[in-house]
Amino acid sequence: MNDTQFQQIKEQLIKLTSKDCFYKKKFEGIDVAGIQNEEDFRKLPFTWKGDLREAYPLGLMAVPEEEIVRIHSSSGTTGTPVIIPYTQKDVDDWAIQFGRCYTMAGVTNLDRIHITPGYGLWTAGIGFQNGAEKIGAMTIPMGPGNTDKQIRMMQDMKSTVLCATSSYALLLAEEIEKRGVKDTIHLKKGIIGSERWGEKMRRRIANELGVELYDVYGLTEVYGPGIAISCEHECGMHYWDDYVYIEIVDPKTGEPVPDGEIGEIVITTLQKQGAPLIRYRTHDLSRKIVGECKCGSKYPRIDTILGRTDDMVKVKGVNIFPSQVDELLKIVDGASSEFQIMIDHINGKDLLTLFVEVEEGANKYAVENQLMAEFKSRIGMTPIVKPVELGELPRSEKKSTRVFDNRY
Ligand code: ZN
Repeated sequence: MNDTQFQQIKEQLIKLTSKDCFYKKKFEGIDVAGIQNEEDFRKLPFTWKGDLREAYPLGLMAVPEEEIVRIHSSSGTTGTPVIIPYTQKDVDDWAIQFGRCYTMAGVTNLDRIHITPGYGLWTAGIGFQNGAEKIGAMTIPMGPGNTDKQIRMMQDMKSTVLCATSSYALLLAEEIEKRGVKDTIHLKKGIIGSERWGEKMRRRIANELGVELYDVYGLTEVYGPGIAISCEHECGMHYWDDYVYIEIVDPKTGEPVPDGEIGEIVITTLQKQGAPLIRYRTHDLSRKIVGECKCGSKYPRIDTILGRTDDMVKVKGVNIFPSQVDELLKIVDGASSEFQIMIDHINGKDLLTLFVEVEEGANKYAVENQLMAEFKSRIGMTPIVKPVELGELPRSEKKSTRVFDNRY
């Protein structure tokens, strides 16, 4: 935390606890004026999505209503949605941040930006839109769906930048390939929304569309997409540390993890007015990337999103994420991509068993040994590895369950 950030947070805290609002209640009994440094700040309680839900509908509003110009809402797939009120400055600040994202990706006012994320209550489409207008580019505000029309507009408008989720980008790439119209498409870059997506999917989209890809990160609770983006060197995402302060914490204990280690992204907003957030637990997993980026940008970096905290398990004091095992399997000859983790507690000890399908004709013994060694060196503990035949592990149409924790 630098001095400016600390001052911004401190001012925010004093303002928020001096009037009737969400944080006045949340920080009741805490001596906010007594916060002198980063260490004191870290003692503040986290803000959870559940807290925000309880504030439904407008309990998060931290300024008089006449200053609010817009609300957005996070997708309420589970229960009550979260409503985030924005002031005009919040809307402008978000556009500035997203504008920086485009600039980082080399997009200019001569580009034509084809926006497929949805417009409406959620922050997707409109975020891509405002940022594009900020840099003066021409936008084609499509929203999702109607593949025929998407492709027709892409051809006729000569769109050069595609904004999409990874799954929709893949669908469009496949359709373009299928119709044999790749030659009539002018796309150069893809700006892809921040879900975790595998390297294989990334390569397919890049190759089939013939574009450079950039990961953009953000969440409705904190402006929306546009608070971070990868640069041409594809080594994590730069985030705008004049707008957000990011901590990476151990999802189980809430303690900060050392730089470079995986943990949960926790965000404090530095300039937000309508609904500022202090130490907001995002449930997204990433890590800080230290050192200067080859691109020369002074903005700090976090890794692209490595998964969700819900997927994490802790075994023998080591946090393990299915995405790490995905990565391991890629470097072990003969291992396929399908695996399952079983965790048991036997005779007072945690045991982790990794079932993995091996490719036909592969030497199971070699796969087992190499996996054990790589698991130990990269993740930090030794598993029991059980190689099985291709197709032996159950398949599921939805996201398959990778981890079975039998300890509790
Ligand atoms: Zn960079």
